[in-house]
Amino acid sequence: MNAKRYHAEFRCIAGCDERYGLDEIVYRCKRCGNLLEVHHDIDLLRRTSPKKWREIFDSRAGKNTWPYGSGVWGKKELVCPEVDNENIVSMFEGNTNMFWAKRLGQMIGMNDLWIKMCGNSHTGSFKDLGMTVLVSMVNEMIQRGKNIKAVACASTGDTSAALAAYCAYAGIPSIVFLPYNKISTAQLVQPMSNGSIVLSLDTNFDGCMKIVQEITKDNSIYLANSMNSLRIEGQKSISVEIVQQFDWEVPDIIIIPGGNLGNVSALGNGFKMMLELGIITKKPRIVLAQAQKANPLYLSYLKGFNEPFEPITPGKTLASAIQIGDPVSVQKAIKTLKEFNGIVEQASEDELANAAALSDKTGLYSCPHTGVALAVLFKLVEKGTISKKDRTIVISTAHGLKFSEFKIGYHEATLPEVSSRYANMPIELKPDSDRVLEVLNKELTKRRNMGMYALT
Ligand SMILES: *Cc1c(COP(=O)(O)O)cnc(C)c1O
Repeated sequence: MNAKRYHAEFRCIAGCDERYGLDEIVYRCKRCGNLLEVHHDIDLLRRTSPKKWREIFDSRAGKNTWPYGSGVWGKKELVCPEVDNENIVSMFEGNTNMFWAKRLGQMIGMNDLWIKMCGNSHTGSFKDLGMTVLVSMVNEMIQRGKNIKAVACASTGDTSAALAAYCAYAGIPSIVFLPYNKISTAQLVQPMSNGSIVLSLDTNFDGCMKIVQEITKDNSIYLANSMNSLRIEGQKSISVEIVQQFDWEVPDIIIIPGGNLGNVSALGNGFKMMLELGIITKKPRIVLAQAQKANPLYLSYLKGFNEPFEPITPGKTLASAIQIGDPVSVQKAIKTLKEFNGIVEQASEDELANAAALSDKTGLYSCPHTGVALAVLFKLVEKGTISKKDRTIVISTAHGLKFSEFKIGYHEATLPEVSSRYANMPIELKPDSDRVLEVLNKELTKRRNMGMYALT
């Protein structure tokens, strides 16, 4: 199928008549200053039946055919039909596994609990899904003769890792702005390794965001933050993958952690598009999970989203990738939550760290942001807002391996405001087999009595 006959363009989210090509360097409506979103020609897409779309998507998943073996480009017609296949910059991201959280679910009385493992990806977070689309479009523009010197982003860590990797793959210069001392070592090493120009600024994420918007103003450096709605298009594939993995059935609840609030609108857009095309016929309920230390949307939710949105200065949270007080995509997120019977809930440092650690005991290896989503799940099940029968999906946004400081600090019980209920430190022993056996028997009994194992 030739995806190029499909059409998409940028339009203003506030409904101005402004329209721009996807190859224009523009991030906001030139009339009202609001963010843009990618608008697809739905009538053209509707000429293909829902059944046919499902068949097309199923036939591509897991294959090597360029570029459709990617979880994002396997849905190219719904994502970004305007790029030539030969200009696509892809590492076959997406198609991440859905983890059936059998034992974790049992602990809270649920048997239909799933974790969408978006961190099992090239750079270890869902940011790859959006970055493949953005960098592909940049590559396309460069091939068409546009003068783009470099691509830049402000980042809480994962965006910069993804930008650096995709730009390195394509041979395009990248620049990343990181808040000094506020991201994990693994996240910092990623753009260093991929040859990015790494600038460490003595401010927080919101401060870096201001600078990057300044330096990209003259359009010779392209802005890669999620206010650039090309990223949202790639991230939209998460929704399609989730229903595809359930044989095109829509789950009841989806819980997603949010910071700059682009991903939650991507999730909603994916479902809306599938509804418009008749691929699905119902909506899930969306729950946005925030860290209590960086909870501007939660505060706004408590006031019914009615007041003008008030940014905050975020406190320091272990969930560093969502330590954001002035989210760029807040209006998109509020719109999405209103359309999906949305809930916003928060988690404290203690709650997020212990939720991540408990999930690890059942075979996961959760990053702190996934911990926020899991803690929110536990709260909403306890309150009865989520029924134990609901098919519930938790979006895991990054790989736990990117957050070793968090994991070690937890087990050493040195994290501020956290009491490490599931700490498990190595036991240091002399190489003496009698002593080793004695300790092992004691530990096995202790752990069995704590209910840690399936067998008693
Ligand atoms: C970027 C990121 C988020 C937040 O996504 P937003 O689109 O900014 O709301 C959550 N978790 C991780 C690990 C991230 O990297």
